[in-house]
Amino acid sequence: MVPDEPPLTAHELGEEAAALIDELSRISAEEDKLTRLYLTPEHRNAADLVARWMRQAGLDVREDSLGTVRGRLPSSMPAYGEKCLLIGSHIDTVIDAGKFDGALGVICAILAARELRKRGIDLPFDIDVLAFGDEEGVRFPTTLLSSSALAGTAPYSELDARDANGISVAEALREFGGRPENIQDLKEVPEKLVGYLEVHIEQGPVLEREALPVGIVTSLAGAERHWITVQGEAGHAGTVPMDARKDAVSAAADLIVSMETAAKSARSDGVVATVGELGIHPGAVNVIPAQVKMTLDLRAATDRPRAAAIDEIKARAARISRKRGCPIEFDQFHEVVTSPCSEIFQDAAKRAIASMGIRPFRLMSGAGHDGQAMKALTDIGMLFVRCRKGISHNPSEYVSIEDMGMAVEATVRWVAEIAQQEMKA
Ligand SMILES: [Zn+2]
Repeated sequence: MVPDEPPLTAHELGEEAAALIDELSRISAEEDKLTRLYLTPEHRNAADLVARWMRQAGLDVREDSLGTVRGRLPSSMPAYGEKCLLIGSHIDTVIDAGKFDGALGVICAILAARELRKRGIDLPFDIDVLAFGDEEGVRFPTTLLSSSALAGTAPYSELDARDANGISVAEALREFGGRPENIQDLKEVPEKLVGYLEVHIEQGPVLEREALPVGIVTSLAGAERHWITVQGEAGHAGTVPMDARKDAVSAAADLIVSMETAAKSARSDGVVATVGELGIHPGAVNVIPAQVKMTLDLRAATDRPRAAAIDEIKARAARISRKRGCPIEFDQFHEVVTSPCSEIFQDAAKRAIASMGIRPFRLMSGAGHDGQAMKALTDIGMLFVRCRKGISHNPSEYVSIEDMGMAVEATVRWVAEIAQQEMKA
C-alpha cells in the first residue's frame, strides 16, 4: 500500500464486504443452502478463511481453545498501557440461513481494523477482532458458549452437552482442533478491556422504516420463557354438551389471544409475547382435549415492563381458568435480564454516524447476541445495519452494498471516537 493513497470510499468498502460475504456464504454443509453449525468441518473451513482475511488485513491471528478466531491490531500508542478493545460477531449460522447474520459483523470488524491501520488513526489500545463460533445454539443445547468462555461464565458441564448424534461439545472440539480442558483459562481480565463492540444486521424492520442505513442499539432485550399447562378434561366429542365441557384447547385459545392483547396494550414499547410451540393431549379428532402445553417467549427493552407484562398475563390466565374450570400453570425455564449498552459507546457512535451526515437513531435489540454474554465481562456497544424487510434467519436476508459500506465506515469512525475519548480520560 502506498501510504498517501486516498482512503476507500464507503461504496468501495461495501463492494469489498459484499465479495467477502459471498465467499464466506459458499462454505456450507448443504449444496444449495447455507448451514454452518458450531465445530463442524464447515465451521473449520470458515474459521481458516476468516483467519486468512485477518492476516491480509495486517492482524496477528490466533485461535482460542473453543475455536474463536482472534486477530489483533496492536496499539499505536503503547504509552497508554495494555488495554484492549474487542470487536466481533459470529460465523456459525442457523439451518438454511441468510448470509449476513453474524458474518457481516466479523467482516466489518476486519475491514475496519485494516482501515484504522491504513489511515494511521491513533489507537491508545489494542484491537482484537473476534469470530465467535457458537451464537445460534443450533447444533448443541448450548448458546453463546464461545463468548461466555471469555466472560468466565461457561461451566465445564456445558462441554458434556450433546448434539442429535450423541457427540459432545468436548469431542467435537477436539476434532476441530480445540482444547476443551482449557475452557476456564479463556476468561479475560475486565480491567484490561475497553469494551466489546458488535455490528450486526437489525433482523427487524425499524431502520428500513426510518430510511436509515445504521442505528445505535440502546439495549439487548431481556427475555423469559415459560411452559404453560392448561388442564381440561377429556371427553367424547359427540356426547358431552358444550356447556358441560372443560376443553383445554378452547381455554388455551382464549389465553393466547389474551396474551397477545396484553403485550399490545403494554404501556412500554418493546414488549413482545410469542406462543411458538403448542402440544395437544391426547390429540385425537373425536376427543375433547384434556391438556395443552405451550411455550411463552416474553421480551421487553427493560426489565420492569417485562415483569409488569408477565403479571398482567398471569392475572388474565387466572380469570380464564376460573371462567372455564381449567387450571393453568406457568413454569418458567429461562430468563435473561436486559443488557444495556454503554452510554459512552452510544454517544461515540452518535458522533461517528453524525460525522457521515447520517441522522443518529437509537433502537433496542429484540434478539439475543454475543454481547449478552460479554456484558458480564465488560461494557458493550452495538450498531445495527438495515436489512431488507427485516427478514433474517432466512435465505432471502439482504443488505445492500451501500449499507455495508456505511457500516464499515461507521465502525472505523466509532472506534476512532472511542480512541479519542480514551486518550482524554
Ligand atoms: Zn447473529
